[in-house]
Amino acid sequence: MIPLYFPENIQPGEPLPEVRLPYFMQFSLDMFRPSPAAHRPPSPAGRPALEYPLAPVPRVAVLGLELRQESGVHSLPLWTVPQLARLRPLALAGSWPDLAAVARIMRAGQLRLPELNYPLVVFTAAGSPPLSGERHAQLWDWFGLPVFEQIRTSGGRLLASECESREGFHLAAGTDPGELGALAVPGPCPCGSRQPLFRLAAARALAAAGD
Ligand SMILES: [Zn+2]
Repeated sequence: MIPLYFPENIQPGEPLPEVRLPYFMQFSLDMFRPSPAAHRPPSPAGRPALEYPLAPVPRVAVLGLELRQESGVHSLPLWTVPQLARLRPLALAGSWPDLAAVARIMRAGQLRLPELNYPLVVFTAAGSPPLSGERHAQLWDWFGLPVFEQIRTSGGRLLASECESREGFHLAAGTDPGELGALAVPGPCPCGSRQPLFRLAAARALAAAGD
């Protein structure tokens, strides 16, 4: 039985009766949202870092990967539209399919990310060719933001990141250039880094690197 009351029958100063919502109105939508904790792998230490191209790292939503927890980095391995809307990221990092999905949802008017105004990071899986010029242009068209590419293993380990000079990639410590099909560019990198610059083979399939 649902208790009902009529406000006009209540005298001034009289305590209001307790109103209980019927059971079918007590469900929160949160009950239908995936719990991130339930999907989180057990060991948080030793996770790969985001290595965002700017410091300090702006509030960035990492889509589809669980990366090291550090200031500004918010990993959303199974991201949802409400999660992104709540986070209000200043930047996004994710694979091409994840970034394309966010763009599609935004263009459909189902998500607004008005604070998104820092460079995007696109993750390319080792074994896949680097992002094509067409896809770079497409991301620019969708987001109006520069994109920096990172080559990672399926487990998220960073193998190479695009240099800010846009001339090629710098390899992460321990990455074997042969594993990536990376060819060293002679001479110093225009970015001023002492790390050698590499070009990645665009056409041929790259060897898949393990974790
Ligand atoms: Zn460089």
